[in-house]
Amino acid sequence: ITPPALSVFETLESEVRSYCRGWPAVFDRAQGARLTDEDGHTYLDFFAGAGSLNYGHNNPVLKRALIDYIERDGITHGLDMATTAKRAFLETFQNVILRPRDLPYKVMFPGPTGTNAVESALKLARKVKGRESVVSFTNAFHGMSLGSLAVTGNAFKRAGAGIPLVHGTPMPFDNYFDGTVPDFLWFERLLEDQGSGLNKPAAVIVETVQGEGGINVARPEWLRALKELCERQDMLLIVDDIQMGCGRTGGFFSFEEAGIVPDIVTLSKSISGYGLPMSLCLFKPELDIWEPGEHNGTFRGNNPAFVTAAAALDAYWADGRVEQQTKERGLQVEQALLAICAEEPTAQFRGRGLVWGMEFEDPARASAVCARAFQLGLLLETSGPQSEVVKLLPPLTITTEELDEGLRTLARCVRET
Ligand code: PLP
Repeated sequence: ITPPALSVFETLESEVRSYCRGWPAVFDRAQGARLTDEDGHTYLDFFAGAGSLNYGHNNPVLKRALIDYIERDGITHGLDMATTAKRAFLETFQNVILRPRDLPYKVMFPGPTGTNAVESALKLARKVKGRESVVSFTNAFHGMSLGSLAVTGNAFKRAGAGIPLVHGTPMPFDNYFDGTVPDFLWFERLLEDQGSGLNKPAAVIVETVQGEGGINVARPEWLRALKELCERQDMLLIVDDIQMGCGRTGGFFSFEEAGIVPDIVTLSKSISGYGLPMSLCLFKPELDIWEPGEHNGTFRGNNPAFVTAAAALDAYWADGRVEQQTKERGLQVEQALLAICAEEPTAQFRGRGLVWGMEFEDPARASAVCARAFQLGLLLETSGPQSEVVKLLPPLTITTEELDEGLRTLARCVRET
């Protein structure tokens, strides 16, 4: 038997690629919550481009806006040039998102992708406070460049840097699901002991739900206690909403439920809505201290992404419709997971809005579920420190029928593995 010829993915592309390796197909087209591979097989998407496609693939409203923009030869490069597309985005973001929520932020475009936003947030916080360290949490994920990696709570990923990464202070993430009142007393004593010297952290960076870390959900009261701690201890609170923002947990920002206003917020992934690279760093006006040019870069203003981002905000957020729909779809997932876990004692689930995780005692079982799901035409990925959590992240625009179909396939995969 002649073994199949190695593809260019195996011969040329680096071994470092990790996501989607368990999906032996070459994908070609996608629409809504479905992808099609080059052999014509279709797959239901419970991954949504790692959270970058909240409005589904090739969303018709965003596609129309993009085609119109390209056809009229709109500006396509980045940089800080004032453009009609950037103005339309900024005005829509202000009118549809910031004003109705009474959020006072200034907006910066830090670069194309999530880690650029995190780097800018960390850099700004350090500059404002004149201190080095940033508190972050166990199982946090903030990105792969040196600064964002230093505050990522995953030793395997940090080891990719090959050198020790400094100036991060790790703390345990909220994991008291037994009703224990959030308590940062011990940490506060430690901070007081450091005085206001250089050792005292400049900021705390947190995800309200840890996506890559295994769908760990922080309680609203824990987030409020953390915000109060930051205020008492003169540290800035950075909420990294790159994966959980843009409606994933219900509200546009994931911290809305807790009723807190972070000092700095990072957004990326679904902000363009079309899978086009774009990221934002939002900060309170008094933090707007950088001189022109103290933070810049070539791909900071992706005009086609501004076009689809403004179209998405207009179409889905002006009337708040997507928020209600996400809550309803979330209940549908919760009920299905309740039923699956009732028959499967080695698994437990957690989540909010349309982000859910099903954790298995044995990580091999989580991979087996995803592999079986692929065979049955459902795209699922794992997350968590040992990849022990099957992550459910469908587009927010998925229909109830499609969601039901995927959940029934998931139940079958759990039974069959
Ligand atoms: N922050 C969070 C919470 C993320 O989930 C991610 C990516 O998964 C990042 C930052 C990094 O974003 P990017 O991969 O676009 O650099």
